[in-house]
Amino acid sequence: MIRVREWGGVTGFLMGRSMGPYVPYTVHAFLVGNTLIDTGAVHAREDFMHALAGRPVGAVINTHHHEDHIGNNTPVRQVFGAKVYAPEESLPFIADPDKLGLRFYQRVVWGCPDPSEASPLGASIELPGHVFQVIHTPGHSPDHVCLLEPDKGWLFTGDLFCGRTVRYLRRDEDFELILSSLKKLCTFDFSTIFCGLKGRVENGSQALEAKIKSMEELKVRVMDLHRAGCSRREIRKRVLGREGAMYYLTAAHFSKQHMVDSILNQE
Ligand SMILES: [Zn+2]
Repeated sequence: MIRVREWGGVTGFLMGRSMGPYVPYTVHAFLVGNTLIDTGAVHAREDFMHALAGRPVGAVINTHHHEDHIGNNTPVRQVFGAKVYAPEESLPFIADPDKLGLRFYQRVVWGCPDPSEASPLGASIELPGHVFQVIHTPGHSPDHVCLLEPDKGWLFTGDLFCGRTVRYLRRDEDFELILSSLKKLCTFDFSTIFCGLKGRVENGSQALEAKIKSMEELKVRVMDLHRAGCSRREIRKRVLGREGAMYYLTAAHFSKQHMVDSILNQE
């Protein structure tokens, strides 16, 4: 499945693997000038490469090493001769995707990328038509970066933002690091967020502030119940409710309990 949208200078490619009438997870890649930000998932390759045909692609920037963001680095390099840039810490995973240690559901939903080559990103990168400031924003993954196009006020947030409220955390995500990375982004000037999950988010700084507020409120509730002597499981039930589809579909890789545990593990 692919859906292509033009957002005044940014083209969004929403993609996912169709399973009958369902597309269980989707992800965005963005084309800005001739720079592609992330390359989506292996299982959306045919649709994605078809949608890219005839467009100028001179470079790729990966926001982090996850399989749904680097999945088509190889065919984009081969077809367009594009040069790929990624955070330095992502490079070993891009070169050897076995290091990703993909779970069964990740192989089914996204697929395992081919080994590929990339060059390390510095503090900023100048590409035809656009300069991107590279902001290190760990939390979703240790290598994660966001990309700011300061002249346009565009902020590409990879998987860091993912909506104003989030109820699930991946087992290897770090609540406190995500929160401090989101706060770091607030110190930059931007108007629109381009999110790997949500696509274009207008009034980006308000959306970011709303997310920070919601995470801080969640943290206060969790800590209050913890001080009142509730177990971690009880806190999860009272604050976030029962585990839902994400928990079962990902075999507990994403869960509400990880959210509570990550908050309490900081203390
Ligand atoms: Zn990710």
